Amino acid sequence: MGILQGKKGLILGVANEKSIAWGVARACHREGAELGFNFLGDALKKRVIPLADSIRASFVEPLDVGDDAQIDAFFAKAEARWGRLDFLVHSIAFANRESLSGHFRDTSRADFHLALDISAYSFIACARRAARLMGPGGAMVTMSYLGAVRAVPNYNVMGVAKAALEASTRYLALDLGPEGIRVNAISAGPIRTLAASGVGDFRKLMEKNARGAMLRRNVTQDEVGNATAYLLSDWASGITGEVHYVDAGFNIGGGDPGVEPSQSGSAPPAS
Ligand code: NAD
Repeated sequence: MGILQGKKGLILGVANEKSIAWGVARACHREGAELGFNFLGDALKKRVIPLADSIRASFVEPLDVGDDAQIDAFFAKAEARWGRLDFLVHSIAFANRESLSGHFRDTSRADFHLALDISAYSFIACARRAARLMGPGGAMVTMSYLGAVRAVPNYNVMGVAKAALEASTRYLALDLGPEGIRVNAISAGPIRTLAASGVGDFRKLMEKNARGAMLRRNVTQDEVGNATAYLLSDWASGITGEVHYVDAGFNIGGGDPGVEPSQSGSAPPAS
């Protein structure tokens, strides 16, 4: 018996087999959940449908989270199909490429609105519709990044959006806690995906992360998927409003340790 056996969940944000959402989908499917997916536009439809079919998804429907009418229609389809919902995974972000390199101070008003709308407000909008279909035991998880709480070069306006997303996670946990619904965020280490390719110098960011991480490596989409499945499951029934790091321990460090401890300077002479 998997830890999500018998549960029905929506996973928003699969673009292709490299997506973090796809790592989450694989883990949730393995743990026994029935899944529904969205796709953004016809170009991605061609990629998402075969993936969803490969794990016998219950449905795959279009959804642009920038459009309230589409969000209503998507959740109406989920309700018609299942009648209820056990979990929601929000793995969606977008910012114009120009705002993900160079000076943060040059962020335009329009780029700020777009990044915050698609990457943070959309979680609130989807959580509201999802919660209507959930009862006690319902769970939601969204995907964040360290740039929410640290100034990471080039992450720029997306860091502000992730800060809003993490704060939204706490306020949603406050709102939905009395209904027995839990809301958490995962802060994932860098993983090479379509969205990540928009961040300037992403390759360097990955190298730096691998050097500075306690495990001296980057994480995989499956590791994020497994942690998400746990947070969605009843094993995490006492956990809400948290930002859970899945980053091989990078966030607890003081930066690039540079050299392994055995080589790091000389100990004071023994007296
Ligand atoms: P990805 O490109 O595979 O996924 C991003 C998804 O957002 C895509 O499926 C895309 O279609 C969707 N999306 C964008 N605009 C949308 C809209 N208007 N409506 C509906 N969907 C929309 O990349 P990913 O790295 O898997 O990103 C998933 C989440 O993980 C994002 O929130 C991202 O910020 C976060 N994250 C990524 C990393 C990383 O290094 N890749 C690290 C930490 C957090």
